Amino acid sequence: MKKAIGIDLGGTSIYGGLISEEGKILKRIERATPKDSKKSVLEALSQTIEELMEEGVVGIGIGSPGCIDSDSGRVLEVGGNIVDWANTDIRGELSKTFKGIDIFVENDANVAGLCEKWLGAGRDLENFVMLTLGTGVGGAIYTDKSGILKGHNFNGGEVGHAILYPRGRQCNCGQKGCVDMYLSGPGIEMGYFEKTGKQIRAKEVFKKSLKEEEAKEVVERFSRDLAIYMASIKNLFDPQGIIIGGGVINSREYWWDRVLDYYKQECNTPDSLSIVPASFLNDAGMIGAGRVVFLRI
Ligand SMILES: [Zn+2]
Repeated sequence: MKKAIGIDLGGTSIYGGLISEEGKILKRIERATPKDSKKSVLEALSQTIEELMEEGVVGIGIGSPGCIDSDSGRVLEVGGNIVDWANTDIRGELSKTFKGIDIFVENDANVAGLCEKWLGAGRDLENFVMLTLGTGVGGAIYTDKSGILKGHNFNGGEVGHAILYPRGRQCNCGQKGCVDMYLSGPGIEMGYFEKTGKQIRAKEVFKKSLKEEEAKEVVERFSRDLAIYMASIKNLFDPQGIIIGGGVINSREYWWDRVLDYYKQECNTPDSLSIVPASFLNDAGMIGAGRVVFLRI
């Protein structure tokens, strides 16, 4: 039986899995992502691979934050939320330890999109846009014909840095008013802080929205903003579906229906698009990273 090692490198945790050709997780490992140096992160990756390595493994796939050159397996100028991660040659470094086995690196949101296409909410969609609303807003743009859109500089599908509010909140990418600053968990927290001067977690804002006016206004604005953004996505790509994942989806009971209502009001041709929640949350990265191996070997 062919197997792949799939690794989801996140700012907080490294999830590693031994993935079968059918997408089953045969073994899994989780460890904290080191915060002190890039060397420690690479060591933690090596250790995770070591523990998962066994007979039948045909390749290693890694989903990493940042802008990833998936041809060479390197991180480009933007390293995401991993310490000193920009310009890291992930494949080159790991190849020193793991000789003679193929190693593939992809952007983390892209591997989550591949997982949804393989086994999840995108299975029956010929093309879709995936949005992950989490610590930031990530995404993937997929078509059966061409796979994941990489873009000219491997920046394709950076949906979090589309501008939602011209000259709005300063984003850490250098632009102002990015989607990332409004539709992520921290974006929701910022919205609540601006209204009340209080700092609470996004999931608390959602819970409070049932009984507190300020929280309700924040959730209404979030719902409307997300709907308006999806109207733009619909008109840019005309996808068959939009899949929404990321940690914010765990609170969807407080906003999902409102978003669909606003979407119908805001979009010129709303009916032909299906908007669905992602099927996989924490496991999407490692399964998708395993999928990258099976697609590319
Ligand atoms: Zn930005």
